[in-house]
Amino acid sequence: MKLYFLGTAGSKPTLERNPPCIALAFRKDVILFDCGEGSQRQMIKRIKQSKIKRIFITHFHGDHYLGLPGLIMTMSLNDRKDPLEIYGPEGTIEFLSNLFRSGYMEIGYELMIRELKEDTLEFEGYSIKSFPVDHGVPSLGFIFMEDDRRGAFNTEKAKEIGLEGKMFSLLEEEGELEVSGRIIKLGDVTGKGRHGVRITYSGDTRPVKFPSEAKGSDVLIHEATFLEDSERKETYHSTVKEACEAADAIGAVRLILTHINSRYAQSEIEAEAKRHFGNVAIAEDLMEVEI
Ligand SMILES: [Zn+2]
Ligand SMILES: [Zn+2]
Repeated sequence: MKLYFLGTAGSKPTLERNPPCIALAFRKDVILFDCGEGSQRQMIKRIKQSKIKRIFITHFHGDHYLGLPGLIMTMSLNDRKDPLEIYGPEGTIEFLSNLFRSGYMEIGYELMIRELKEDTLEFEGYSIKSFPVDHGVPSLGFIFMEDDRRGAFNTEKAKEIGLEGKMFSLLEEEGELEVSGRIIKLGDVTGKGRHGVRITYSGDTRPVKFPSEAKGSDVLIHEATFLEDSERKETYHSTVKEACEAADAIGAVRLILTHINSRYAQSEIEAEAKRHFGNVAIAEDLMEVEI
């Protein structure tokens, strides 16, 4: 799977950075997290927007959703027929309905809009957990959880036990099976599997405690709007140091900082991040991360 950072700015676009938008290409689908203004032009450079199956909006500050109307319209102009799923926090249905009523917008495919709180949605091969964060308005973070993979069948062992034909698929479905009066568990005849990949995205937030599902995330994408300086004030955002502490708290393998504030030089952010977390990178627009 591959992550595409299509927009990495904090609040305002700059010459180098678009407002927030992250695409995850997993198998044949693309999942979008946030869709700031201009995201569809960024997509032209990296992904096929026709592959976008579902969009997760963290919250309804303009920088995170104003790219939606344009994208939805282009999809319609491109004769999209597949339904599009949009998920977001409390208020999503009302905000989007108002948005679609604000002009002569004709949408030629089905839109499925759903509001989330702390929920786990299961899809083919993965699930997405949403959880509330602390940003002054209804806001969510998301955890992408790839299904765990089982190990391959040990054919010799399976033969020894007497497994044959349809028994394999039955055992896979049920998890256990009676073979010649003996209960065989799937794990008895398969090798070591592997844990599915986990990616946690904080959205915009003050430091919060992440749900247990975020533990051991392969990647934590965390907003880092401020440095520990006098400009910090009391905001509903995180500093670079706080983002690093969040990565530590969940034992993330890798931290990618985003929502980058144009008032700081990249080198300042990098220096502060490196002081607090080893495996850290600052996201850049159009950056690709293979996982
Ligand atoms: Zn923002
Ligand atoms: Zn915000």
